[in-house]
Amino acid sequence: YLVPNWSNGWFRVNDDGQMEVTPSPGLHVVIQDVVESVLERGESLPVIIRFPQVLSGRVKQLNEAFHKAIDEYKYKGAYQGVFPIKVNQRRLVVETIAQAGYSYAHGLEAGSKAELALCLAQKLNPDALLCCNGFKDDGFIKLALWGRTLGKNVVITLEKYSELERILKQARALGVKPAIGVRFKLHARGSGQWEESGGDQAKFGLNAYELLRVVEKLREENMLDSLVMLHTHIGSQITDIRRIKVAVREATQTYAGLIAAGAQLKYLNVGGGLGVDYDGSKTTFYASMNYTLAEYAADIVYTVQEVCKARSVPEPTIVSESGRALTAHHSVLVMPVVDVTGPTRDLQDIPEAGENTHQIVKDMEEVLDNITARNYREMYNDAVGDKQTLHNLFDLGYVTLSDRARGEALFNAILRKISKLIAGEKYVPDELEDLQKVLADKYICNFSLFQSLPDNWAIQALFPIVPLSRLDEKPTRQGTLVDITCDSDGKIEKFIDLRDVKATLPLHEPNGKPYYLGVFLAGAYQDVLGSSHNLFGKVSEAHVTARPGGRYHIDLFVRGQKARRMIESMGYEEGMLRDSIEDQADEAIKEGLLTDEQETELLEDYGEELLGYTYLEYEEA
Ligand code: PLP
Repeated sequence: YLVPNWSNGWFRVNDDGQMEVTPSPGLHVVIQDVVESVLERGESLPVIIRFPQVLSGRVKQLNEAFHKAIDEYKYKGAYQGVFPIKVNQRRLVVETIAQAGYSYAHGLEAGSKAELALCLAQKLNPDALLCCNGFKDDGFIKLALWGRTLGKNVVITLEKYSELERILKQARALGVKPAIGVRFKLHARGSGQWEESGGDQAKFGLNAYELLRVVEKLREENMLDSLVMLHTHIGSQITDIRRIKVAVREATQTYAGLIAAGAQLKYLNVGGGLGVDYDGSKTTFYASMNYTLAEYAADIVYTVQEVCKARSVPEPTIVSESGRALTAHHSVLVMPVVDVTGPTRDLQDIPEAGENTHQIVKDMEEVLDNITARNYREMYNDAVGDKQTLHNLFDLGYVTLSDRARGEALFNAILRKISKLIAGEKYVPDELEDLQKVLADKYICNFSLFQSLPDNWAIQALFPIVPLSRLDEKPTRQGTLVDITCDSDGKIEKFIDLRDVKATLPLHEPNGKPYYLGVFLAGAYQDVLGSSHNLFGKVSEAHVTARPGGRYHIDLFVRGQKARRMIESMGYEEGMLRDSIEDQADEAIKEGLLTDEQETELLEDYGEELLGYTYLEYEEA
């Protein structure tokens, strides 16, 4: 499961083969113990376990990395991070980051009016930045300006030139001096899945001419000192450090150019993009990154300094807007396996041959009887061809349903036999590569992909998935994961690997005891992008802090959304639903379909489900 490769020291397998979290140096918690505590409280799974200490630890690591680089290079400016709350607006997340970041003057970034309203209410260090990005109407701008009157270091970033006029108008009307940032469209681009966020065609930002016009306009208004920040962002999850260096160089040259034009910028904001090594491969693959946090900080500080020295301009306060890298590690989604199906375990016996068995079925019998270690490739190709023919003949009415059943069972038996022959072989011929996938079990997990891991569905994001226990036991099965939505897309068939993406995950044979899978590094974006497909609602959350001696405390348990809430979010009212059921039950009594006692029971069961968790409420595999 490559735990040491991707865990960044936050997770490990203990001597008993269980997944442990190390939320703080020297403190270890067995994750399955927390799951059992949740169940003992009478709560149901799935559950997201959040570790606020991990969040605080990430804030510390990020800030310390920049401070170290600043000391090392004797950089004259400072570093201040901001957390873009769109990555995870959960109260625990924002409040923990604000608190952990207080001493570092770590700020927040809002991209909408609602996010700004939330950010303004947070207790931040007075020097901490509150950056306002995204398209803005007058209400957004006014709220940001009011923020300045509250003593907050609010910077309004221009995403397009026309916003400037509106900011100046609102500022004059309120009598508040604005602090303005300006987002520049770098021609440099990121690498990985969000490349398009940068480059000339980017959705946000001003071009060089517009940038200079901003300076001119502010000079005319005698407000040049209001322009405090240059902002750039080349996309999230930048996999290649070289792209970051190139972009930071261009950004710093632009900063120097603005200084030369008369601006008095204080902050150079390099945006987000600090990656997360989801697969642990340390490469430029989209789920990885070829650099460390220390290298990221050092390269940014070094590059900014180098350009500033060459251009003889002051070294600015460097700002970065890391979201993914701060939040990904802090939570684990725990989902129980509720059943396992698959071609090698569903009804393995082969139905008896009928009297007039079709020749194609006889051919398949022969293939099964004659497979050997020498000829399995040829036999596999024959079997695939025969199965195709079997189905074609069935469609034309030449093969009976019983022959089809026998043929399909023979095909599965052929696959099982071949898989035994190739088990353990290092070299698997190309045409057999998908055999593992065909033969794989389907582990049915009590969760919704659309609610809990939307990026896996939408953009093939990879997350490390690991059983929480039995890790001292060799997994003997290969499986894919399916969720409980009625959507065939609700499945996970891509898993991390050091060289490629794997189609199956090694898993343990069910042994009658609960088997939990943990999805790691899912703390960024997933909580907030999820949707309620099939009315599966928000998952319950346990906020856990580690204590010495392997102990832990569940500080808060937030129950997942109830069915009633999900139904009401679609415009229905609970009373309306209950009345309808009651009316129908009364009718049914009249028609003799139901007794009075049964009606009472029915209404009780209905009411209970409305108040229940939307996920399956049984656990055993
Ligand atoms: N800043 C801006 C302007 C963004 O658009 C984003 C997200 O893409 C971020 C910061 C956060 O990026 P990341 O999560 O990669 O740190």
